[in-house]
Amino acid sequence: MADTGFIPKEKWATFIEVLSAKEQVHVPCLEGDMIIFRSFEKGRTLCFERPANMPPKAVIFPQSDTLFSFKFIKDPENPQRVGVELTENKDFPKTILIGARPCDAKGFTIYDRPYTETDTPDPYYKGRREQTTILTLACQDPSAGCFCTSVHSGPADKEGSDALITEVEKGYFVEILSEKSSTLLKEAGVEDGSAYQDEAHKNQEAARSAVKQPFADNLAPKVSKELYGNDEFWKEELAKCLSCGVCTYLCPTCYCFNITDERATNRGERIRSWDSCMYQHFTLDGSGHSPRSTKFLRFKNRIGHKFLFYPEKYNNAIACCGCGRCVRFCPVSVDIREIVSKLQESGVSAAQQGGNDKS
Ligand code: SF4
Ligand code: SF4
Ligand code: SF4
Repeated sequence: MADTGFIPKEKWATFIEVLSAKEQVHVPCLEGDMIIFRSFEKGRTLCFERPANMPPKAVIFPQSDTLFSFKFIKDPENPQRVGVELTENKDFPKTILIGARPCDAKGFTIYDRPYTETDTPDPYYKGRREQTTILTLACQDPSAGCFCTSVHSGPADKEGSDALITEVEKGYFVEILSEKSSTLLKEAGVEDGSAYQDEAHKNQEAARSAVKQPFADNLAPKVSKELYGNDEFWKEELAKCLSCGVCTYLCPTCYCFNITDERATNRGERIRSWDSCMYQHFTLDGSGHSPRSTKFLRFKNRIGHKFLFYPEKYNNAIACCGCGRCVRFCPVSVDIREIVSKLQESGVSAAQQGGNDKS
């Protein structure tokens, strides 16, 4: 079985349309000046020119997800007894995600560790993840704020993807990376890719060189615990933050959620919705106590989770893929690269931090 293919530019739209007739397909669509992943429909304007404003994480981890519905049923013979009937929502359709960027695909691998690689995997995340085939588009022109190459990734990183697609002059070069995507090469219009491999790899290398490296000595950052523990630092850094949550909602690696029961009369739904550690009510417990009662403590948690606690727990894997969305879209220009640079432990090489560099 050949493991590369080629789709001529004039057949790209048809290729997507043909896939959408077989499975649910999500693609980046232009809406105003925003690029948002939507379910493919004829008439939508697809846009692969630059990374989407919103990462495609909702395809596998919906912003609002009804986990199950419930109904209370009184025993007619004994009104003191009330039973509960549950209907689980585990119907996960086969889905193809086209045009995720390498950082977006890597984001799912950061979800995978706590959500699937445990003794108690999350059935909703796991179910959708298994049903989704990710066809990633390598970046040619890194955006302002991108720093993927500084956090063990890169504009042609294959981690988390089922196929990597690289644009070349005449079309799209496809590298098959998993069994899930192997049938793509049999789709109508897909040609032998071997003649385009060198051009694709040259483009990938050029893109990698174009990504800016914000950290000292071009090292993947290792945060110093001593610097991290200085609360005065956080108060100063975060004075201008509005606690709007944009940085976490647009982040392909932020995975916190809240659970609510929406109930009317004798029936209701249990809903899981994205949450953000930038919000005042994050982890507020039933007694009214919050372990992160101030803005600086919440922001400190955000950086600590990505660059300190997660790496400690998961073999130095950084829970940031360097997509730069939080840099591009923060309304008051809080820049995670500057903050992490100030916290960076000096003299620690990427190699000393462990082998998580897949690109
Ligand atoms: S996007 Fe900026 S202002 Fe909004 S919560 Fe994040 S750091 Fe604060
Ligand atoms: S923290 Fe910022 S740069 Fe890192 S993955 Fe999240 S949005 Fe992207
Ligand atoms: S961070 Fe890297 S992979 Fe992500 S959009 Fe930018 S260049 Fe592409």
